[in-house]
Amino acid sequence: MTAENDNSSELNRSVGFDMPPEVLDEIRLNIEEIIATFPVPEDNKLDVIKKINFMYSHSRYLSLTDALTGLYNRRHLDTMLEREFLRAKRYGSDLSVAIIDIDFFKKVNDTHGHICGDYILKEVAYLILENFRKTDIIFRYGGEEFVALLTETTLEKAKIPLERLRKSVEEYPFNFKGTDIKITISGGATEIGDVENASEFLDNADKALYMAKENGRNQIVFL
Ligand code: GH3
Ligand code: MG
Ligand code: MG
Repeated sequence: MTAENDNSSELNRSVGFDMPPEVLDEIRLNIEEIIATFPVPEDNKLDVIKKINFMYSHSRYLSLTDALTGLYNRRHLDTMLEREFLRAKRYGSDLSVAIIDIDFFKKVNDTHGHICGDYILKEVAYLILENFRKTDIIFRYGGEEFVALLTETTLEKAKIPLERLRKSVEEYPFNFKGTDIKITISGGATEIGDVENASEFLDNADKALYMAKENGRNQIVFL
């Protein structure tokens, strides 16, 4: 998740979950507009504002996140990838992206069941969040695929959290109802370089992921 200023923290605390600062700005504008449009009696104005704030924030939160893992969803990735790509191009800053995919995940579901698969997804999501910086943005991209957008980060620097993550998943003692399960991940990462658009950027990470799978999995390929 992105870094927050003090106002964001305050609003986040009042709704009870984390929201990116730009979404909080959007919520503030909406509340102001609703209050300006509808007459609210002075004596319960604060309650009404709180209620609108919660309802709007909650539905916005649901539209941006994945219910199982709590990570940002694919829709939000589309928005953020484009935004961060354009920002990095404009200011000449570094930007790296990684796609992370759980190895042989279908086999986990087939052997231990879907509920176990969901447990693994949640734990892996937690490990991903734990291994990246606050300024990196993490998404659930598809079923068992995740994307990490590493702002102000060269590919060389991206190697550190990605290798650390790969190792921590490999060593993590996954246990579902008393059964130990071994999990590994593969990943593909790339940096912005002279790539011309956001989809080509992500596509390069996908190519690197494909190479990691081809090379035998449980590895990150940097392209
Ligand atoms: P590879 O190492 O090549 O990535 O193999 P894989 O088995 O991980 O990949 P494949 O794409 O063949 O299978 C992905 C599986 O992920 C298929 C589906 O059963 C599982 N899956 C996708 N979404 C979910 C989910 O939300 N919950 C659970 N439990 N399983 C899911
Ligand atoms: Mg996959
Ligand atoms: Mg997989």
